[in-house]
Amino acid sequence: MKIKSAEFIMSNSEVAKCPKDRLPEYAFIGRSNVGKSSLINMLVDQKNLAKTSGRPGKTQLINHFTINKNWFLVDLPGYGYARVSKKAKKTFQRFITDYFEKREQLVLAFVLVDSRHEPQPIDQEFMQYLGEHGVPFHIVFTKADKLKPGALVRNIKAYEEKMLETWEQMPRCFTTSASKYEGRDELLNYIGELNTADF
Ligand code: GDP
Repeated sequence: MKIKSAEFIMSNSEVAKCPKDRLPEYAFIGRSNVGKSSLINMLVDQKNLAKTSGRPGKTQLINHFTINKNWFLVDLPGYGYARVSKKAKKTFQRFITDYFEKREQLVLAFVLVDSRHEPQPIDQEFMQYLGEHGVPFHIVFTKADKLKPGALVRNIKAYEEKMLETWEQMPRCFTTSASKYEGRDELLNYIGELNTADF
């Protein structure tokens, strides 16, 4: 898929106020600092469309972008940031769960995972939640350039083994590096294929 246009539409904290257009929608989510903004900027080939987080956990909003005027890319807030208050965490959880449970246009979520780290309970719990609510998701491993190829393969294998302790099969996985522009075509072409399938 070629990116012809990528436009910011709106930010809000209520699913009811999200854009009404019936375009296929893909949500990007992960721990704060996982590399989500960088990945989105790489995908759309713009430096600053998604705001890279100067202070993680600050932007707790649902951000909608239209890509090529025919699909929505949604940038969801990073989770797991220790410095937000309990109350803020609860509010955050509610609007995120609302989003996943009510947003009919959502085709699937891309859960971002730092390829350098072992499976983290917070990511596992989040994927568990998606599974229990029937929300399809795929995994995007980020920052692949930070590892030597052998270590990357080993980490991803270990991640799969851990997941297969609880899941019957692995979700589809993509390996990416925003700094090296790796994994971009795979992700975009995959979304392109889904967009041309029945929706
Ligand atoms: P977010 O909080 O998930 O949106 O993460 P950011 O996109 O702001 O990235 C967090 C930090 O990781 C920043 O310092 C980025 O420069 C760095 N980063 C993000 N993606 C990559 C990548 O693919 N490779 C490398 N080496 N660094 C990355």
